[in-house]
Amino acid sequence: MSTSVQETVPKRRVAIIGGGLVGALAVLYFAKRGWQVSLFELREDLRVPENKKNLSHRSINLALSARGLSALKRISLGLDDKILEHVIHMKGRMIHLGEGKLKSQLYGVFGECIHSVEREILLELLLNTAATFTNVKMYFQHQFKRCNFDDGILEFENKKTGNPFQDSADLIIGADGAFSAVRTQLMRVVRMDYSQEYISHAYLELTIPPRVNDKDEEEFAMDPNHLHIWPRHSFMMIALPNRNKSFTCTLFMPFENFDALKTEDDLMEFFRKYYADSIPLIGEDQLKKGYFRNPRGSLMSIKCKPYHYKDRAVIIGDAAHCMVPFYGQGMNCGFQDVEMLNGIFEEYEISAVQSSDKLALALEEFTKRRHPDAIAICDLAMYNYIEMRSSVVKPWYLLRKRIEET
Ligand code: FAD
Repeated sequence: MSTSVQETVPKRRVAIIGGGLVGALAVLYFAKRGWQVSLFELREDLRVPENKKNLSHRSINLALSARGLSALKRISLGLDDKILEHVIHMKGRMIHLGEGKLKSQLYGVFGECIHSVEREILLELLLNTAATFTNVKMYFQHQFKRCNFDDGILEFENKKTGNPFQDSADLIIGADGAFSAVRTQLMRVVRMDYSQEYISHAYLELTIPPRVNDKDEEEFAMDPNHLHIWPRHSFMMIALPNRNKSFTCTLFMPFENFDALKTEDDLMEFFRKYYADSIPLIGEDQLKKGYFRNPRGSLMSIKCKPYHYKDRAVIIGDAAHCMVPFYGQGMNCGFQDVEMLNGIFEEYEISAVQSSDKLALALEEFTKRRHPDAIAICDLAMYNYIEMRSSVVKPWYLLRKRIEET
């Protein structure tokens, strides 16, 4: 089924660089507004089955919150309902206190929850929906190299052929992630304040497979409706459920702690000390394989300002504000960027048909409105690391201490 937009006068052209979650959602919003949209993505099209093996392994699943769902709903393509069919609701945190003790902390008294969603499923939904629009063209394996914002000329390398490729656009949207090439280009033409901070912690993903019950059926090895946390003060592990009844665990700790675990014996001693209850769930062999084979990712926070250049370009998502993942809001905030940008376009009556002096004002307004919130959430994300790896256990310990004292 194709979603056509009235074809009368030539439409303005927007080039969206980066077909991750945020870029893919931006494609839909601009397509719906009637723009002629071109999406340029460095990687292969993940919807092609043989490309799935080349997928980056960055966080297999994510927590989708009200902020992100709102952006999926606002576009009125039924994306929110469609994705909610594929999520697992997490109504609270399950704290693994050690010695097998568990403590559930609900997110709200009215059943509020966040949703565990697989990155691949969400991205596939967005790209498949984009493919139904007649005014969208998608170019995969196209690496954005540089552009002239004033002329609207963009240069790419076709990674499949190695050939250069040129295109032009009235508006350029940079949704190309933390190491954004569009942001680098923007820095050449605007006086951009920029800061980047790596934290000393890395992350590594492990898997808790489904367990087989007495009836020979696969089931979740832990309560699936919680986000599981093993807080250990200077490091922690978390686990989010997947639809195939597995959990993806993410171990966060300083690089030097990772480096200190050199042998399988070191690893098992460490896990027996800090994450003993997870060993039978992950399985000793799988734990050793996963730990020594899976990549370690670094984590950083990026703040910059402004996000725009005249009426020619704007950056969104991680390209504009990359945050550490402890608040589970990176993607959600990126989705909210798109929703907010669309709202500002509506306020300023930016049309897809004719150029408008108001476009520069609208993009300026986006920087003005978005920047303070983005900074706040980057800081909250940094703070939440202390909360998750340490503070969450305090009420329990205090309570236990008080009981022991009486
Ligand atoms: P990206 O996902 O980085 O996408 C950018 C895209 O641009 C990529 O597809 C890339 O290939 C492409 N690209 C890059 N350079 C070029 C170029 N030169 N030319 C063309 N294309 C290019 N967020 C949440 O909301 N909830 C969570 O629970 C959560 N958990 C996380 C857990 C971990 C461990 C990590 C690391 C992050 C987590 N996040 C979470 C954050 C979330 O992953 C990011 O905020 C989100 O992916 C940002 O989306 P994006 O589209 O802006 O950038």
